[in-house]
Amino acid sequence: MSDQEFKRALGYANAAFDLLKRSGIPPYPQFYELLYTYATGVNPTLNNRINAIFRSGSAPSANMAEVLYNEFLKSNVTDRMSSVSERMHARIESVHQAIDAAMAGASAYSGTLDAASSELDQDISAGALKALSDRLLTETRLMQQTNAALEEKLSASRDDIAALQRDLDDVRRESMLDPLTKIANRKCFDEGLEKAVADAARSGDPLCLMIIDIDNFKSFNDTYGHQTGDQVLRLVAMTLKSNIKGEDLAARYGGEEFVAILRSTDLEGAIIVAENVRKAVQAKELLKRSTNEKLGRITASFGISSHRPGDTPASMVERSDLCLYAAKHAGRNRVFSEAQLNALQSAVPGISAA
Ligand code: GH3
Ligand code: MG
Ligand code: MG
Repeated sequence: MSDQEFKRALGYANAAFDLLKRSGIPPYPQFYELLYTYATGVNPTLNNRINAIFRSGSAPSANMAEVLYNEFLKSNVTDRMSSVSERMHARIESVHQAIDAAMAGASAYSGTLDAASSELDQDISAGALKALSDRLLTETRLMQQTNAALEEKLSASRDDIAALQRDLDDVRRESMLDPLTKIANRKCFDEGLEKAVADAARSGDPLCLMIIDIDNFKSFNDTYGHQTGDQVLRLVAMTLKSNIKGEDLAARYGGEEFVAILRSTDLEGAIIVAENVRKAVQAKELLKRSTNEKLGRITASFGISSHRPGDTPASMVERSDLCLYAAKHAGRNRVFSEAQLNALQSAVPGISAA
């Protein structure tokens, strides 16, 4: 984590604590998360709701915080996961009961057969033989019924379990997606980068990490509204996704920042990809959907690091961030790579790349 990022996070944390204290909301983790999110401004709809409460002259109460937390932050993926898990448990329990009943039936039936066989070993009258065969017939029918019930339960369970499996796959997929842009989310990116860095260290294949930040997006939102801003985020996400190849991963890093993990790609290749994305973003003339009003164009800045021996996911993110910062500093709408950062570092010794 860079100094700058640390200071920014600390600023958000302090703001969240101030708001908790001012509003008399208990500083439970979920309320802290709510107000921390508010302080970052990454969820404009949430901020609009909280701002409206402040504007009305009051402050959010603990109850309101609970409602907002459930609506905006509580993961419904977790809820769905536990619902699938509960249904799975119930189904398994019912199969267990059916198997237990079938086993008890089979063992009673085997007892009946043993008893019948020792009766048959002795001299037996015609009447007793008739009674014995009647008893065997009844027991056999009972056994057939128990087996049929078990078969029915197992077949219903097979269909149910297949449906549960599909639900589980959906939940798993959803838990990896950013709900707004439908590309991979931060969690998926964190896991992907961890794996990509480990693979690169093992194989020695090149690996690049690109961080993208939309330029002056705050003022775009302020001018055209957050909903139009959200459309732009979707557009940038799609542009990024369509410019990378199969084994790469594009994700929303948070707010108006995106990332791409470029496997088997050296710095030169990554710069080409970034330039393609940069030009494609810049080329799009934005139209407001509802009115067809022309909104001009947006641009984005790019920072790229390439894997070095001993790198961790955090060290790669940090160098990409430094490059991004340099791209912003140099005037935005540009790609800044580690190679340029190294050159800058030798020219201006105060700048650190690690
Ligand atoms: P810079 O060129 O330096 O990156 O300037 P910036 O305005 O893009 O950067 P800043 O960090 O000041 O503001 C980022 C803005 O991104 C704040 C917020 O309005 C907007 N934003 C973040 N997340 C979302 C989102 O989910 N939807 C919308 N519409 N806007 C968002
Ligand atoms: Mg930003
Ligand atoms: Mg920005």
